[in-house]
Amino acid sequence: ESVESGSIEFGLGDVDGTTVAPPPVVAVVGRPNVGKSTLVNRLIGRRAAVVQDTPGVTRDRVSYDAIWNGRQFVVVDTGGWAPDAQGMAAQIAEQAELAIGAADAVVFVVDTNVGILDDDEAVVRVLRRSKKPVLLVANKVDDQRAEAEAAAMWNLGLGEPHPVSALTGRGSGDLLDAILDILPEAPKEAVAEGGPRRVAIVGKPNVGKSSLLNKLAGGNRSVVDNASGTTVDPVDELVEVDGTLYNFIDTAGIRRKVKEAQGHEYYASLRTQGAIERAEVCIAVIDASEPLTEQDVRILTNVEESGRALLIAFNKWDLTDEERRRYLTREVERDLVQFGWAGAVNMSALTGRHVDRLGEAIEDALQGWETRVSTGKLNAFLGRLVAAHPHPVRGGKQSRILFGTQAASAPPTFILFTTGKLDPSYVRFVERRLREEFGFHGSPIHLSIRPRE
Ligand code: GDP
Ligand code: GDP
Repeated sequence: ESVESGSIEFGLGDVDGTTVAPPPVVAVVGRPNVGKSTLVNRLIGRRAAVVQDTPGVTRDRVSYDAIWNGRQFVVVDTGGWAPDAQGMAAQIAEQAELAIGAADAVVFVVDTNVGILDDDEAVVRVLRRSKKPVLLVANKVDDQRAEAEAAAMWNLGLGEPHPVSALTGRGSGDLLDAILDILPEAPKEAVAEGGPRRVAIVGKPNVGKSSLLNKLAGGNRSVVDNASGTTVDPVDELVEVDGTLYNFIDTAGIRRKVKEAQGHEYYASLRTQGAIERAEVCIAVIDASEPLTEQDVRILTNVEESGRALLIAFNKWDLTDEERRRYLTREVERDLVQFGWAGAVNMSALTGRHVDRLGEAIEDALQGWETRVSTGKLNAFLGRLVAAHPHPVRGGKQSRILFGTQAASAPPTFILFTTGKLDPSYVRFVERRLREEFGFHGSPIHLSIRPRE
């Protein structure tokens, strides 16, 4: 649901025409049970029931929006997952590595009551290698007394430990200040004028992601030319599609089939989330020959909630017969209506069918994602809309949209100033009409309603 009330700070988005970069990403890492999930809830200002009592329970979402002092950032939670006793340090290190790779800054959590264990040291080694800015949190400092023990964490060689109690909130305000201090002012992958656009191929296992990547890359694999000033992550690949160079995100994760028996799903969702977060546009691959699954829908929802442009690739079209295609149409009408704004290509990575349509579809989605509507045009439209379709009267009062502004693009984000609350159905209606009027094809749009006090 993109209907939020007052969740967007004015001035966060730009009001004067440049593209808004995605917010920076903070990963919270550490061995199991140090309090990562509890801390994440603190950081996002929510007492959500995210903390799991059952180790190994996988969660759908691993990243959350946070805002502090008017600055927005994304927190990646690596809690809620515990490896088994064997090979623990290695698994923790790998898990941390994934999260750190996708982050602009890292919060490393240790348990002050327990002290430093080998598993902590394993994460420290990964942190050193990553060269990302790190903030050391000595957690479970619930009172003054424990603060002395926090000082022992200087031994980790990661600088000053920040004593915090994730449970009570003690020290969490200072921690948030410190996080803002180490976050890059502009995220490292801000939409660079002229740089290759970032594309993520996402989807559940075996839908044909790596086949598609191979098809697209086949022969066109670009040699990364550092002299040209293009820096590419080692896990990414530059691939030319229709004469345009794109940066395909985390292709290492697609090519290398990650097969950890335990926590596999967790790794997969963390990786997917990380790729979505880094991308501007996502190609969500769905196996058209098989019934749609919840996991397909979940990944699409993730893309939408992350505010990325979306293109749906119905792959393995060569395996569909007329009957299957009839079923698929029904499944799409039933389960994917909320993604009606996304472009779709019925394709086959195997035969190459319609693979040549992807380039144009990617560009189309990016264009919708970056669409800007001037305040004048928007308000002329809103004026007509409100006159023709006033908000229903509720409890003797009638809410009215006074005016609106597009606070950001990529994705298009609107603030509507109103005289009172709007029905969710009315907000959906406004969104539908906005799309009819201005397009935004291939992009989620966010509406923030600001009732006048
Ligand atoms: P994770 O595995 O690192 O995500 O750890 P959790 O957030 O699940 O926390 C593990 C346990 O430590 C839970 O029982 C928490 O309630 C507890 N815990 C977390 N933070 C604190 C804290 O600051 N003080 C105390 N006393 N307990 C905490
Ligand atoms: P990934 O796990 O999503 O990367 O999926 P893969 O690319 O490894 O594909 C899984 C299986 O589906 C492989 O056996 C592929 O050969 C097969 N496959 C992929 N795309 C197609 C397609 O368009 N048609 C058919 N018939 N098979 C495909």
